[in-house]
Amino acid sequence: MIEVQQLSKTYGDRVAVRGVSFAVEGGEIVGLVGPNGAGKTTTLRALAGIHPPTGGSVRVAGHDVAREPVAAKRRLALIPDEPHLFGSLTVWEHLEFAARVYGVDGWQARAAALLDELELTERRDSMADELSRGMRQKVAVACGLLHDPAVLLFDEPLTGLDPRGIRTLYAAMRRRAEAGAAVVLSSHLLGQIEGLCTSFLILRRGQLLFRGTTDELRGRFAAPGEAASLEEIFFRATEGDGVVAT
Ligand code: ATP
Repeated sequence: MIEVQQLSKTYGDRVAVRGVSFAVEGGEIVGLVGPNGAGKTTTLRALAGIHPPTGGSVRVAGHDVAREPVAAKRRLALIPDEPHLFGSLTVWEHLEFAARVYGVDGWQARAAALLDELELTERRDSMADELSRGMRQKVAVACGLLHDPAVLLFDEPLTGLDPRGIRTLYAAMRRRAEAGAAVVLSSHLLGQIEGLCTSFLILRRGQLLFRGTTDELRGRFAAPGEAASLEEIFFRATEGDGVVAT
């Protein structure tokens, strides 16, 4: 569902992502992790066609993001870490706006179901400015899910969510993955996403250090039988001389 080949991105003379290649199948929930400045947001933005790459290619649901941007964008959603909402539009009006942008037929029923799923129904007529940070985050998620994307990209989606909100969001991600979507989420909260993700991508200084399951990650960076936490393993992977696996 996602194919990234030799993706590079430079800002001026700063290299943010260097020759990263990976693929994500439908049904996977992949955690994109790495220290500050590792290139996670840059990678997600390149996948979404927001920041054109300096080199390499990205295909989403069979569409080259650079050559067929509209077709690719119809099949994906990027939910950024900061929800960009219109302060004086209501929750429902945001959904109507998203429906018009993506040309979603029969959007009202889908929007009502999404508000229900994300526990926002009571706030349907509240203006964005009246919502808490976590609620705003959930509105951004609802808008992103409205056109039923095959590829879901979340940049730090847990920021601002309470434990119940996290559980609700995880259930929504799992449902989409079970229905065949590819889900990628960046996060620093390794303990929180360990149970959710089917595999991980670890970036460091713009390079891909690792792509694999939790068991493969333990196999690479922990001694046999060692009960190291994912966080500990992550430190080893990103602070040692991790082997670059692109
Ligand atoms: P964090 O965990 O802090 O969110 P990240 O892994 O998402 O970090 P990026 O935001 O992708 O990392 O940044 C990767 C590198 O690219 C950093 O060195 C950053 O300073 C640089 N960078 C990111 N965006 C820009 C930009 N718009 N202009 C210039 N440099 C940028």
